[in-house]
Amino acid sequence: MDALEVGQGASGRNAGFIIDLPHNLDPTEPNAEVNTKVRDLNSFAIQRLKRIQEQQGLDVSWHKAGKYLAAHEEKHFSGLTDFVNTLEAIGEPYEILNEDMLAERLGTHYYKRAVYTSGNILVNPAALAISVASALPSNVTLLENTPVQAIDLTNKIIQTPKARLNADTIVLATNAFTEKFGVSNRITPIFTYASLTRQLNDNEMKNFKGIEQGIEPWGLTSVHPAGTTVRFTSDNRIFIRNTLNYQPHLSSPKTVLDKAKATHRKSYLARFPQLADVPFEYTWGGMICVTMNHEPVFKEHTSGIYVMAAMNGVGVAKGTYLGHYMAEYICGKESPELDFILTHSAPSWIPPDPLRSIGAYIRLSFEERMAKGDI
Ligand SMILES: Cc1cc2nc3c(=O)[nH]c(=O)nc-3n(C[C@H](O)[C@H](O)[C@H](O)COP(=O)(O)OP(=O)(O)OC[C@H]3O[C@@H](n4cnc5c(N)ncnc54)[C@H](O)[C@@H]3O)c2cc1C
Repeated sequence: MDALEVGQGASGRNAGFIIDLPHNLDPTEPNAEVNTKVRDLNSFAIQRLKRIQEQQGLDVSWHKAGKYLAAHEEKHFSGLTDFVNTLEAIGEPYEILNEDMLAERLGTHYYKRAVYTSGNILVNPAALAISVASALPSNVTLLENTPVQAIDLTNKIIQTPKARLNADTIVLATNAFTEKFGVSNRITPIFTYASLTRQLNDNEMKNFKGIEQGIEPWGLTSVHPAGTTVRFTSDNRIFIRNTLNYQPHLSSPKTVLDKAKATHRKSYLARFPQLADVPFEYTWGGMICVTMNHEPVFKEHTSGIYVMAAMNGVGVAKGTYLGHYMAEYICGKESPELDFILTHSAPSWIPPDPLRSIGAYIRLSFEERMAKGDI
């Protein structure tokens, strides 16, 4: 049951990176053994999604484009070094690129240094969500546009505007919205925003530096956690994502969206001054859900009520493998992977509101100030 239609939620409106490696936004992994396991789980998710999109035959713009973890500000180079150390420890190959090499590949001189790894997948996220939903077996009924208004956790009764449903087992996979149901108080819902240009025309493509070499679709995330994510998509558009803000009421006013759009424009012009005339065609926001220690919620809350939430901004891969192992958990199927997930899904304590709100506001403002030119 989903309040929206498939593809309309955050899983359809994200930046479309299916990450293969432990992510800088997701530093739950304090050691090589843990990092290796997370990498293997991400690879499992990628294989699973690849199989589904191949079977279903829908075009999801699947590209094994890899990912650039990049810095504009020299003071953030140390984050790249930390990432390289992680890669060395788990035996993952990588390339370090300087400004000129990056300009050749990305069509912008903005970035001074980056680490490139090749296993990340780029997709059209809404198409991927639709593809996954189309693969549901015939014994599954999907109810879209069906908001759950309340759940009686003791008697396992679900209330929607049109019906009351009894269930033997309920799985809450509502990420940032989970706290509405009173099953987790250690999560923080955060809004982030994205803009997408119209397609570049032939002339504009000529101005796109690097095009002589035939520029390929690429995806880049910032070494700074509050920095900007950028993509050059397979249909020749530029995607920009940045701005993080805490919205405890789980909705974001238009004024904040407009402000985010202005920030996107500034980031875009700094990177692509030669494409200054290309307007954004779309701007939107969506929710991510984070925890203090970046561990997800994955648990049986009370008998028959299961919860998975707090994908910490990397839910395409993480949500895919957690969903798979949640099903195995419910069926009582044991595995080392499930044991690993269960031992690494204990979000740390956060203070209740209003302290949570104040803390989130101060932390996000601080991070955005520190990110400087990497926004
Ligand atoms: C702009 C943006 C860019 C991002 N980029 C990336 C990226 O490149 N890679 C990546 O891995 N992650 C990215 N993320 C994060 C990613 O989108 C999330 O981690 C992921 O969507 C989490 O999946 P989910 O299914 O757990 O939650 P969601 O996608 O948020 O799904 C929760 C669902 O619950 C439904 N729901 C909520 N309340 C109710 C209710 N009461 N009744 C019925 N249904 C309800 C919602 O309608 C929604 O469809 C990004 C997020 C945003 C916003």
